[in-house]
Amino acid sequence: MSNSNRRTFMLHVAAAGAAFSAGAAQAQATGPKVEESDAQASALGYKQDTTKVDAKKYPNHAASQNCATCQLFQGKPKDATGGCPLFAGKQVVANGWCSAWAKKAA
Ligand code: SF4
Repeated sequence: MSNSNRRTFMLHVAAAGAAFSAGAAQAQATGPKVEESDAQASALGYKQDTTKVDAKKYPNHAASQNCATCQLFQGKPKDATGGCPLFAGKQVVANGWCSAWAKKAA
């Protein structure tokens, strides 16, 4: 492969990767909402309303914790729902919560 062909090939690979990432992000932005009854949601104690979290089961939970303040939330600050890598292809509610919550860096 000549240098020029190699460069063209690498550009195509990079473009394909970017297109794939954009497609994946879009799928996450339009997927169905995570249901509390989903196996993964149930395992993580996910609630669509952070005020409904079982305080006895999750004593470290605080009402100020929700998906919108979690570092894994992929929505914008004012979005009502957004993607979360723990629930690929689905949407979590901004006011939701699960036991994997981790404070978003300020
Ligand atoms: Fe919400 Fe964070 Fe749990 Fe994802 S990891 S469901 S964004 S609290």
